[in-house]
Amino acid sequence: MTTTKAHIYARISRDRTDGLNVAEQIVACENFIKNRGWELGETYSDNSISAMSGAVRPGFEKMLKDAEDSSDTVTFVVYWKQSRLERDPDDLDRFLLAGCEGYATDGTQANVKTASSELMTKMMSLYGRFEQRNKADFQKQANLRIAKAGTYRGSIRPFGQRKDGSWVEEEAEAVIEAAEKIIAGEWSFFRTSEVWNLRGLKTPQTGKQGGKQWTSGTVRNYFTRPRLYGYQDYKGTLYELKDWKPILTKEQFDAIQVKIDSKRTGFRTSNVTRHDVRLLTALIQCADCGRGMNAAQRGGPGSTRSYRCPSTKHVTIIAEPLEEAISEFSLHLLAQHAEVRNQQESTTRRLATVQGEKLSLTKEHEEWLDEAIEAGLKPSIIANKESKFEEEISKLDEEILTLQQDKTVSIFEGFKLEGWNASPIELRRDLLQTLYSGITISRVGQGKRFSPDVIDYKFTPLGERLRDEYLKHEMDALHPWENSDAI
Ligand SMILES: [Zn+2]
Repeated sequence: MTTTKAHIYARISRDRTDGLNVAEQIVACENFIKNRGWELGETYSDNSISAMSGAVRPGFEKMLKDAEDSSDTVTFVVYWKQSRLERDPDDLDRFLLAGCEGYATDGTQANVKTASSELMTKMMSLYGRFEQRNKADFQKQANLRIAKAGTYRGSIRPFGQRKDGSWVEEEAEAVIEAAEKIIAGEWSFFRTSEVWNLRGLKTPQTGKQGGKQWTSGTVRNYFTRPRLYGYQDYKGTLYELKDWKPILTKEQFDAIQVKIDSKRTGFRTSNVTRHDVRLLTALIQCADCGRGMNAAQRGGPGSTRSYRCPSTKHVTIIAEPLEEAISEFSLHLLAQHAEVRNQQESTTRRLATVQGEKLSLTKEHEEWLDEAIEAGLKPSIIANKESKFEEEISKLDEEILTLQQDKTVSIFEGFKLEGWNASPIELRRDLLQTLYSGITISRVGQGKRFSPDVIDYKFTPLGERLRDEYLKHEMDALHPWENSDAI
């Protein structure tokens, strides 16, 4: 009998209150391995800031590659907590697909040896995400209080202003000048960045570190902030900043947004942030007028729930059969997902590739830009290259968005109605938004019972693919002979 060889994986955490640093994680893992009498294999770690965000993790990738190349049927990996291993459920899928089995030092495991261990592993992953969200909610409450009080929320002062809202004259003048030229169509965001860089104006920074050079992207971003006219945005609601000296008027600001919007594509709608959010709140629309429908309840708890249009005498519908019909239909669609996914390159792998491409493209472009400015290339040449670059990036962004939707879907793959109903409501709402761009509800005739016919789905591209696959299956089941080669 041979001893089990186990590798270690450790990763830096975004949340400073969340336990051990990488070196400490590794020590904990080494102890875990020693106590079990296992043999210590490789140690993989990701210790750079990019490992916290969506970027590629070289250590994690190397581990998967080694596992795939390994002659062992199973690769054992020990980590401190499952949250260190995966940043989202898709990381976990890749880990398992590469033939790895995971052991956390807190005793939980990640494997698919049996149906129940697979369920546990997936639930751990869901739970991790759920917990992260809860934590984020606390932060949101604190931010909301600050926003309501009208104080500036940023940790760094904005360009043109101090944190108390007074002006840094030279910068504020430059902003006003640029705004006027941009509105008049004389300057692009790129041109603005060039002028500001030439004048030695930099982005604000904290501490001793100097600010950075402007790019067309950072300039554009800067001009989307409502604080320019004295408001700050918090979760889609604008709060007035107290004692703030606006640099632009609302009219100027709006004129710039029109310029920006005309170039922008594919943005997602924001979520509803209210306390009483039901599964379908604002996700379904009234067929009479198109307004989002809200949850309503006649009488106390236990009485019949319904959804209704905010306009009186428009669509009202009993909640439960509607929620069930939409949930079941969605699960039917999800059942097609594995099929659709297998027809393509693995979503996860593709996502890592595309994110990597975006990263290197950006880096490459920034290097080119530095050299071009130093070499004194003509602004028209630079602008030309800049707009090509932006086009490529926005294409990649679109693909990333689609792939991320695919990932959301894969969380629920194989779920039945019970599992679905037990999952956090925000996840389920996420998923519905991934499948449908809209769901319209018509009236149920007077005295008639609920029928799924009142539901009209509008699909997202992903939803459409799944629906086509679903319809194909249904057809095959009805007319098997049409697809038979035996004739
Ligand atoms: Zn209505």
